Amino acid sequence: MGSAHGLSLQDPSLLRGEAFIGGRWVTAATTFTISDRSTGAPLLAVADGTAADAEAAIAAAVAAGPAWAARTAKERGAVLRRWYELVMAAQDDLAAIMTAEQGKPLAEARGEIAYAASFIEWFAEEARRVYGEVIPSPVPSRRMLVLRQPVGVTAAITPWNFPSAMITRKAAPALAAGCPMIVKPAPETPLSALALAVLAERAGVPPGVLSVVPSAQADAVGQVLTRHPAVRAFSFTGSTAVGKQLMAQCASTVKRVSLELGGNAPFVVFDDADLDAAVAGAVASRFRNMGQACTCANRFFVQAGVHDVFAAKLTAAVERLVVGDGRDPAVGQGPLITPAAVAKVERLIADATARGARVRCGGTRDARGGTLFRPTVLEGVTPSMAIAVEEIFGPVVTLLRFETEAEVIAMANATTYGLASYCWTRDLARAWRLAEALEYGLVGINEGVIVTAEAPFGGQKESGLGREGARQGIDEFLETKYVAMGGLG
Ligand code: NAP
Repeated sequence: MGSAHGLSLQDPSLLRGEAFIGGRWVTAATTFTISDRSTGAPLLAVADGTAADAEAAIAAAVAAGPAWAARTAKERGAVLRRWYELVMAAQDDLAAIMTAEQGKPLAEARGEIAYAASFIEWFAEEARRVYGEVIPSPVPSRRMLVLRQPVGVTAAITPWNFPSAMITRKAAPALAAGCPMIVKPAPETPLSALALAVLAERAGVPPGVLSVVPSAQADAVGQVLTRHPAVRAFSFTGSTAVGKQLMAQCASTVKRVSLELGGNAPFVVFDDADLDAAVAGAVASRFRNMGQACTCANRFFVQAGVHDVFAAKLTAAVERLVVGDGRDPAVGQGPLITPAAVAKVERLIADATARGARVRCGGTRDARGGTLFRPTVLEGVTPSMAIAVEEIFGPVVTLLRFETEAEVIAMANATTYGLASYCWTRDLARAWRLAEALEYGLVGINEGVIVTAEAPFGGQKESGLGREGARQGIDEFLETKYVAMGGLG
């Protein structure tokens, strides 16, 4: 046990501020400071990685790639398995680092570490299941084979809301497939990313196979990662606006692009739903990470017959949520990520109330200040209000009333987003109709939290491209090659 920079860790060496490039811990000419999200106390100065650092990481990946790809899948899987075990063994320390830099309650941070680790475990196993094909040939003297090979050097840019899981969902399948990866984590949460790199190094990931370049110069580093010809696949999680820009940058070298972008999830409650279960699911879905998840329910459509009862039960549950420092075990809602995030939530609530929505609870900042925001329920929201159009990314429930199934399907789909959706009903036929009609990559039926490493995660429409997790997740990092072998007959 040791105390490093105000953080009490069993293994203080997990806390690093240098960039991890080509297997070396590298200082930078300039740094940026990470402070505790709840107390504001400075935690650590972190290397401000530059475009040159990104280029050095790519060069190291180019050098390391062939030997890593040449290892057997079983060997790569064994390294990943060790990484998984080290992450789980360090779960408490990694959670403490995450809560300090990101703000989410410790229990949620521990949950995210286990979730992040589950992707490493899953892809450690999937490495050995990258099967090719033999196709029956239309030509007697020819045999036709399909090989699946690592795409080559890969790069990722990740957000602050899930500082560890958004990295392992990308790095684990890339490494399992035989591809090196360079990660630029969000500037709000580099410490979680660098701690993962410490453990990857200990697990035996070879130098250059995983580099982490923290940076407060997103554009400069992003330009290199998206335009460098040696990078063959680029994976991004973040906002739709930035995703579109990075996709355009990747076009210059026709990279493989995977995008996990924003969401505007509908949460549909029918008259026949188990209302208590729906309320519990609503709280779990909306208030995860203080509402700062791309899968968070954003628009709550409640059928007229149960609207008022559901609203009352949900409001009572939301009023029980405790706001404060995430290290307090009673706290379920920590601070929001930045003052700008609070300002956005306030703007959306002000617009909605000016246009007729009513605040049932919350609606304002917490009196203690900082970026704490009171969990909020708004009723009388209509589909055209900004709060129902934009991703809120904060602890706010918006209640919209509906009458018929056809009407709610149309309203639920009337968005440019298509990531997660939720539906509560005890009618099996209706559940199937909704599952098929909702234009979303994920549909939860009578479930509020549905993500898991075993299932394919990804969005439709402007919520993204490609899938993470599941057997599909490794496809993003594999090339399909057809081999025709002739003259055989
Ligand atoms: P963001 O502003 O798009 O930032 C995400 C990452 O991109 C950060 O590392 C950011 O660094 C970087 N970035 C921004 N502009 C860039 C540029 N021009 N070039 C290169 N990199 C750039 O998103 P965020 O606010 O951090 O994250 C929240 C968003 O992520 C939400 O929309 C949420 O729905 C989405 N999200 C989606 C998923 C999913 O799986 N679909 C999961 C989690 C989050 P800087 O901060 O330095 O700009």
